[in-house]
Amino acid sequence: MTKLTEAALRRDMVATCRQMNATGINQGTAGNLSVRLDAEHFLVTPSSLPYDKMQPADIMKMGFDGTYEGKHHPSSEWRFHRDILRARPDIDVVLHCHSMYATTLAVHHKPIPSFHYMTGVAGGTTIRCARYATFGTQALSDAALEALEDRLACLLGQHGQISLGRDFAAALWLANEVETLSRMYVQALVLGEPPVLDDAEMGRVIEQMRRMSYGQMPEPDGANDVARPKAAAKGVRRVVAKRKPVAKAKARKRA
Ligand SMILES: [Zn+2]
Repeated sequence: MTKLTEAALRRDMVATCRQMNATGINQGTAGNLSVRLDAEHFLVTPSSLPYDKMQPADIMKMGFDGTYEGKHHPSSEWRFHRDILRARPDIDVVLHCHSMYATTLAVHHKPIPSFHYMTGVAGGTTIRCARYATFGTQALSDAALEALEDRLACLLGQHGQISLGRDFAAALWLANEVETLSRMYVQALVLGEPPVLDDAEMGRVIEQMRRMSYGQMPEPDGANDVARPKAAAKGVRRVVAKRKPVAKAKARKRA
């Protein structure tokens, strides 16, 4: 769970909303954002307030029981923010938007397949599309939770996308990746349905991504040269140097 104070989370939330506008993934007041505050509460953006006018004090504080404090109404999508934060202890931030290309696929109920290895950023071989349900309803929240099973992102049928993260930066990054993948996929479809990477390859991709998220280099089987800091490389040269006497000994034998 996040260790930031409520004041810091409110400031970061406003900054992230402005970045949603700056990166172009937000359409008007359609997007919304939430962050886990503690075991009983979360913060969520208010309903119908443009992000460029929003201040930290405008952010709404909600209980997981549906009660709220603040000077506005919470986002009409507070239900799926609440339900996802409650069901997914592995993440602390829920970001929702109607980004253009993700929504283009979602209006056709088309999930994103593994046409490109980056589909693995959401944690699986596909980024699913949740069935349609009216905005703001429990039915939409239930559909979103289902589509997000073992995933960090999903499309929402005839609606938009949801991206999750450990913090604001991770959720914002993922939302932009989902939008970029969607754009590539829509573009690729111009030439016909593209081929997909098989599940075994996507398994390797997801494992590489997992290793990198823990700060390790993607080197699962030692088949390649390993990129390494220069200090470590000196160690490798010493190992090579130790072999020289063997070669010299062989040379002497031949002589
Ligand atoms: Zn929406």
